[in-house]
Amino acid sequence: MSADRNIARVTATAAVHAGRVPTKPTPTIDLASTYHLPGVDAGGESYASLTAGGPPTAEGGLVYQRMWNPTTAGFEQALAELEGLPEAVAFASGMAAISACLLAATTGPGAAGKRHVVAIRPIYGGTDGLLSKGTLGTEVTWVDGPADIAAALADRPDTALVVVETPANPTARLLDLDAVSAACGDVPYLVDSTFATPVLQQPARHGATLVVHSATKYIGGHSDVLGGIVATTPEWAARLRDIRIQTGGLMHPLAGYLLHRGLQTLPLRVRRACQSAQALAEWLASHPAVERVHYPGLPGGDPDGLLGPDRQMLLPGAMMSFEMRGGYDAAATVAENVRLILHAASLGGAETLITHPASLSHRHVAPEARPDAGLLRFSVGLEDAADLVADLQAAFAKL
Ligand SMILES: *Cc1c(COP(=O)(O)O)cnc(C)c1O
Repeated sequence: MSADRNIARVTATAAVHAGRVPTKPTPTIDLASTYHLPGVDAGGESYASLTAGGPPTAEGGLVYQRMWNPTTAGFEQALAELEGLPEAVAFASGMAAISACLLAATTGPGAAGKRHVVAIRPIYGGTDGLLSKGTLGTEVTWVDGPADIAAALADRPDTALVVVETPANPTARLLDLDAVSAACGDVPYLVDSTFATPVLQQPARHGATLVVHSATKYIGGHSDVLGGIVATTPEWAARLRDIRIQTGGLMHPLAGYLLHRGLQTLPLRVRRACQSAQALAEWLASHPAVERVHYPGLPGGDPDGLLGPDRQMLLPGAMMSFEMRGGYDAAATVAENVRLILHAASLGGAETLITHPASLSHRHVAPEARPDAGLLRFSVGLEDAADLVADLQAAFAKL
């Protein structure tokens, strides 16, 4: 897919109105598992359209929840609008979304025999595991950055997909998506944009074919819903819907409702969290017990110049990680002595979270690629920054 740099940045207005009917601003929650079929032919035709990855027909109706749900479809339309892509397909979780992308890339017309995937490390531990284990029949070549993609693709016409994540989990490292796009050539590439949200970056501006979010994180924003979503072209969306029908990894309609609701405040939440994150990153960077802070908003944190209003990423985000000089023991002391900040998995919620990736999200990553034992990942939430600094100060005092 060629890049379309003219995709509009997400405005607060777009986030409030995306995917909504002007005369009925609150989406309807439809929990039905099944629907009346008005006739055998009409029902059958709608079924045929749905199993081909299309929408239901007006005459035949929605048929069955695994095939189509109007509440989830509203969220999909909204997210597609914000990403500047024609369609989006929602799944039960971020991992269900990534799994469906791998299946879509390696099965179906044109994909036969293509099983090779090139991926850049570091990446979310769950994605690392799925690719490393080859659970879905893929074979992965791990590379360190965009500059290594071309070599990994050479003599591999069986490459189905290139998989990247920016900012990367857990180091918040930024990848130059234009460089990724140039290296991929005709091979489609997937961006896991969970840390950025469409508010901060829209990978379709840089030629991404599949833009994935764990909606569980910022899009939901309140640590109370799981979901995944892929924004993409109509052709890929049809394949993903067919796979969703076949494998059943669908989003529950209540999740679709909550996630659509969450989009309205996404720009506000992300911008506010970015502000606090900058202050906290600076505090951490000046603390003698901290060896290094990984945050794109600090000096040296954006070596490729990707931050800025006219660049790839609007603001540095609210995810960071930091290495403790005292290694594992110091990291454990901090994680176990915060009181306001929650020591917990996940990220992107209203509350600030801290985790130790080497023992949790990245525990099963190969030793050579596993995060340092002294590294803590920090998801800055919506509390007052001064309260977060005070909480860190108290935890650091236990060192
Ligand atoms: C959490 C996460 C995932 C997985 O999402 P789930 O909703 O937990 O399945 C994928 N990618 C990134 C970057 C994540 O942070």
